[in-house]
Amino acid sequence: MQQLVLASPGHFVERDVEPPSNTTDEALVRIARVGVCGSDFHAFAGHHPAYIYPRVLGHELSGIVIKASTNSFGIKEGDKCAVDPYLNCGMCGMCLAGRTNCCDRLEVIGVHRDGGMQELLPVPFRLLHSSKSLSLDELALVETLGIGAHAVERSQAKPGDRALIVGAGPIGLGTALFARAAGCSVIVAEQNESRRFFAAQYGWKVVPKAAGSLADLVFDATGNPKVMAESLHSVAPGGKLIFVGLTSDPVSLDDSLFHKREMTLLASRNSAHQFPRIIQMLETGEIDIKGWISDRLALSDLSTQFAGLPKRPHLIKAVVGMDGQSSKGTA
Ligand SMILES: [Zn+2]
Ligand SMILES: [Zn+2]
Repeated sequence: MQQLVLASPGHFVERDVEPPSNTTDEALVRIARVGVCGSDFHAFAGHHPAYIYPRVLGHELSGIVIKASTNSFGIKEGDKCAVDPYLNCGMCGMCLAGRTNCCDRLEVIGVHRDGGMQELLPVPFRLLHSSKSLSLDELALVETLGIGAHAVERSQAKPGDRALIVGAGPIGLGTALFARAAGCSVIVAEQNESRRFFAAQYGWKVVPKAAGSLADLVFDATGNPKVMAESLHSVAPGGKLIFVGLTSDPVSLDDSLFHKREMTLLASRNSAHQFPRIIQMLETGEIDIKGWISDRLALSDLSTQFAGLPKRPHLIKAVVGMDGQSSKGTA
């Protein structure tokens, strides 16, 4: 089968390898779509400490089950599935506390072990979430949506809360969707004009910069240490600042303001237990991600086009069509 390997930073290699086999706890999945994520760009640039090379990228995945023994999860051959890429140990303190996203020994498919930029992938049944009505495009975006869903859950958002989302990339957009679903009034701050234009289609108030009005919940989805520090200034007295985006640089916060307004600072990591809920919300139309896929590529395009992808000004979400159908699809 075909596999695209990031052999070293900046260097993809396409190779033909033996197809994998699945254990009795796993289904064999024919990968259909792979969402390209900011962390993939960091891996490509060699800036992400979690990646060891060579590595097959791809953690935002949908596919079709082509081999599955009888299992208690109800996964059957022919099922269209989203792949939850988070492999937790089930035994550490955080796993036992139900916070599996913070597992001590967490391994992410496509980060710590080989991911979906290959034709076939064995996946534990418990990590597969099927849907009869969603498209393979939509299923590939469930993981990305999970980041925002988890952040909003962490914030304990309630109806009437004023939510400010800083950064309108896919993570910020997802956070805004779930904040609205929780009953918040939503303002989005985004510097990039075409992203602002895209976000405005959802009926949110969209501003170039978060200045002036205060919010009960400020979600920073930029991962930019300077912006993260500025976001503190938008938190209302008694409000919360939630770092959804992350940085490896220090963030310098104004402590006197933090104390004066008695704020709460929260980190939100990955997504936990969100897949079934998100799939249901997409199926019922409670959340809508039409138009999110701004760029489509085939696996064979990545060697030449990957480096330029993050520079495309209109980029929201790029998706790799593993069946070579790079220009088809509807989400
Ligand atoms: Zn991702
Ligand atoms: Zn664990």
